[in-house]
Amino acid sequence: MKKVTLFKGDGIGPEICAQVKRVIEASQAAVEFEEFNVGEAEYYAHGALIPQAAFDSIERNKVILKAPITTPVGKGFRSCNVQLRERYDLYANIRPAKNLPNVKSPFDHVDMVIFRENTEDLYVGKEEKIDENTVYATKIITRRCSERIIRAAFDYALEHKRKKVSCIHKANILKMSDGLFLSVFHEISKEYPSIEADAYIVDNACMQMVMHPEKFDVMVMPNLYGDILSDLASGLIGGLGFLPSANIGKDVAMFEAVHGSAPDIAGQNKANPTALLLSACMMLEYLGEEEKAQMIRNAINQVLEEGKIRTQDCGGHASTSEFTEAIIEKLYI
Ligand code: NAD
Repeated sequence: MKKVTLFKGDGIGPEICAQVKRVIEASQAAVEFEEFNVGEAEYYAHGALIPQAAFDSIERNKVILKAPITTPVGKGFRSCNVQLRERYDLYANIRPAKNLPNVKSPFDHVDMVIFRENTEDLYVGKEEKIDENTVYATKIITRRCSERIIRAAFDYALEHKRKKVSCIHKANILKMSDGLFLSVFHEISKEYPSIEADAYIVDNACMQMVMHPEKFDVMVMPNLYGDILSDLASGLIGGLGFLPSANIGKDVAMFEAVHGSAPDIAGQNKANPTALLLSACMMLEYLGEEEKAQMIRNAINQVLEEGKIRTQDCGGHASTSEFTEAIIEKLYI
């Protein structure tokens, strides 16, 4: 049995987490969870966003499945996600967006994988108040961090028989910082002659993703653009309820949905658990449980294909638990 540290999160976190656990248990994957409350609720109850016991568990297990966590907007504590990515140097945030069977979207032919640099850029959280009306925020781009995320994107493209890697940047304006990211991209692309390489300015990339999503295959970009473009990518495939992600470092890996804690629907048993479930599939693949991951993916696809039981975010009436039960029923068919 492989042990995994499970963070139940805030908002819809605990309810989708419980359902994802049911599916994994039903699949009989050789995985055992060590569960922890982390996030806003834990912070106000016990004074720490992540209890020490949870860190101890990560350091033993090296693999985390994490539900979304609430971060106060414009005030309050620093994002727990950013802290985890920094502490364990989870530099590669991988977010695959692909059309799912029978999930309505105005966009076809979406099959793109976003590689988001996860440790620097504006997310270093260095903000300085110059005076009452002026704040500076620091954007950091280094050769070392650019190289490793760009290389990860090209290696993935090779391994998964992808044809192209696109660099997304704003080097026309941020000539030094994004300019460095882009020039490292051009250097590294020469090491992968079998993979096509091209580059888009981020604003153009947004338009092209909507007008011609089929143009994109693997995409690599600094942190902020990756955050924004992955929500855009989720919109192309039916919404945030469907977009999974992996945060990979040298020693530790963390798997989570791209969406947040959705406070507007929390506690109502109506969230779509697919994004977290697909993130759990990425985790199973990482742990060498490819067969179980495929079994769960097939079950999700069958339920979506039939279209009888679907959650409200994609036009259905089913609750989170009804949708999960339908997936469990399909596991061994
Ligand atoms: P959100 O992703 O929580 O919600 C955006 C919209 O999508 C909402 O209307 C929500 O109901 C819907 N939605 C999201 N997930 C869904 C699901 N699984 N099923 C059905 N509908 C779903 O974004 P937000 O409202 O901007 O942020 C809420 C909180 O989440 C904030 O505190 C933010 O900081 C945090 N957040 C956390 C993470 C994370 O933990 N990785 C990521 C993004 C945002």
